[in-house]
Amino acid sequence: MSNKQFDVVVIGGGPGGYIAAIRAAQLGFNTACIDDWKNGKGGPAPGGTCTNVGCIPSKALLQSSEHFEHAGHHFADHGISLSNLSMDVAKMLGRKDTVVKQNNDGILYLFKKNKVTFFHGRGSFVKAGGAGYEIKVSGANEEAIEARHVIVATGSNARALPGAPFDEENVLSNDGALRIPEVPKKLGVIGSGVIGLEMGSVWRRLGADVTVLEALPAFLGAVDEQIAKEAQKVFTKQGLKIQLGVKISEVKNGKKGVSVSYTDAKGEAQTLDVDKLIVSIGRVPNTTGLNPDAVGLKLDERGAIVVDDECRTNLPNVWAVGDVVRGPMLAHKAEEEGVAVAERIAGQHGHVNFNTIPWVIYTSPEIAWVGQTEQQLKAAGRAYKAGTFPFMANGRARALGDTTGMVKFLADAKTDEILGVHIIGPYASELIAESVVAMEFKASAEDIARICHAHPSLSEATKEAALAVDKRTLNF
Ligand code: FAD
Repeated sequence: MSNKQFDVVVIGGGPGGYIAAIRAAQLGFNTACIDDWKNGKGGPAPGGTCTNVGCIPSKALLQSSEHFEHAGHHFADHGISLSNLSMDVAKMLGRKDTVVKQNNDGILYLFKKNKVTFFHGRGSFVKAGGAGYEIKVSGANEEAIEARHVIVATGSNARALPGAPFDEENVLSNDGALRIPEVPKKLGVIGSGVIGLEMGSVWRRLGADVTVLEALPAFLGAVDEQIAKEAQKVFTKQGLKIQLGVKISEVKNGKKGVSVSYTDAKGEAQTLDVDKLIVSIGRVPNTTGLNPDAVGLKLDERGAIVVDDECRTNLPNVWAVGDVVRGPMLAHKAEEEGVAVAERIAGQHGHVNFNTIPWVIYTSPEIAWVGQTEQQLKAAGRAYKAGTFPFMANGRARALGDTTGMVKFLADAKTDEILGVHIIGPYASELIAESVVAMEFKASAEDIARICHAHPSLSEATKEAALAVDKRTLNF
C-alpha cells in the first residue's frame, strides 16, 4: 500500500464533494477526491446522485417527454401538423445516458484542470493520528492516504417502504424510475414530493396512466398553499391521479406487476394494481462503508453526520456537507456548503445563506420559490403584504402559449422587505433567480417594482407581482 499525503481529502464526488475539491485546489491545497460511483462499464462516473440518477438525467427525460407532449397537444395550435407521432423510449434513454456521461467527463476534466487527484473507489476512515487522518481507498487497488482535513460528502440513498425493497424491475427507486425500458400502462408513485412528481410527469406525458399516493393530507405541504392548490388543479387536469391522506398497508411485488393495498382518506380499503411502482418517500443520509466509528465521527438518529452551522463535525478538521448532513437535500445547497468549507479551511469566511436557497420542481408548469410561504408567515405572526400576478396577463406567456400560473410576492408589512417569492408557471426555475438575488441583497418589493424589465418577457410578471404588493399592477 502506498502512502500519499494530502492537505484536503474529499470523500464523495457528488455536487457537494467535487465542488469542494475544486475550490480547495483553487485555494492552493493539495487535494484528493474519492468517489465510488461506477458507470455501466465499471469505470468512474463522478457527479454523485445528482449527475448519475438525479438532477441531470431527470431533467433530460423531462425535456424529452415535454417535447413529446408539445408535439402531440400544442403544435397544432401553432399550425404545425404531425402524423404518426411516436416515441422511441430506447433512444430517449440513450440521449439521457449521453447527457449524464458528458457531465461525468466534464467533472474528470475539471479535476485534471484544477490538479485534484481523483481516486475511483470507496473511502473509509482507518484512524486519526499523525498530522490528520488515515483513509483507505478500496477500488481496483487498495491504497492508504493521509489527510490533514477531510470533507465528507457521501450523499444520500432512496428510502424504501418497509416490506417492499427496491428490485429496480417493478418496485423502483429514482434509479429504476429513470430507466424504465418501455412506457408502463399503469404506473404508481408513492410519495408526491419533488422526485415523485417529476418522475410521474415524465411517464404520464409519454402515455402512462399515473396514480400518485401521498400519506400527507395536504398536497405539496412545503409549498405556499396558494401555489400548491394551483399545482394540484393543473396536474389533475393533465391526468395525474393524486390521492392524499392514504395509508399504505401492503405492497405485493409479483411477476406481472405490483399490487398496493391502502386505506384512502375516508378510511376505506383500496387496491392499486400497476405495472411499475416508483417509491419516492424521501432519502436517507449515506455513510455506508465510511467507517465513521473508527474515528468516532458522530451521527444523529437519522444517520446524518452531525455538523454545526459551518459544517464542522465533532472531530477536528473533519467537515461534512450536502445530503449527508442536515438541511435541504438539494444539489446547489451541497455545492454552496462545499465551497464554504474549502474557504473556511483556508481561513476565509465561507458563506451559505439558508434563507435564500431556491427550490424548484421541474414539472410543467414549473414551481419555484425562495424564502417563506404565506402559511409560515401566518404561523410566525409576521405582518406581511401579498401580491400576485397571473401569467395569463403576461404578453410573452401568451406568445409562448403557456399562461398557466402566477408569481406571488410576500413582503414585510412595514419595511416592504421581500420575505418570499413563489412562482408556478413557465420557466419558473429561471425566473426565481432574480428574487434570490433580491432577497440576498435584502431588497424591498418596491426595489423590484422600480427596475426596468425587458418587454415582452416572463420576468415582467415578477415586476408586476412586486407592484401588486402595493396594489398597483399595470397590466392586470
Ligand atoms: P451525492 O450526489 O449523493 O453524491 C455522493 C457521492 O459520494 C456518490 O457518488 C456516492 O457514490 C459517493 N460515496 C458515498 N460514500 C462513499 C465512500 N465511502 N467513498 C467514496 N464515495 C462515496 N437537487 C437539486 O438541487 N435539483 C434537482 O433538480 C434535483 N433533482 C433530483 C432528482 C432526483 C431523481 C433525485 C434522486 C435527486 C435530485 N436532487 C436534486 C437532489 C440532489 O441529487 C442531491 O441533493 C445532491 O446530489 C446531493 O449532493 P451530495 O454531493 O451531497 O451527494
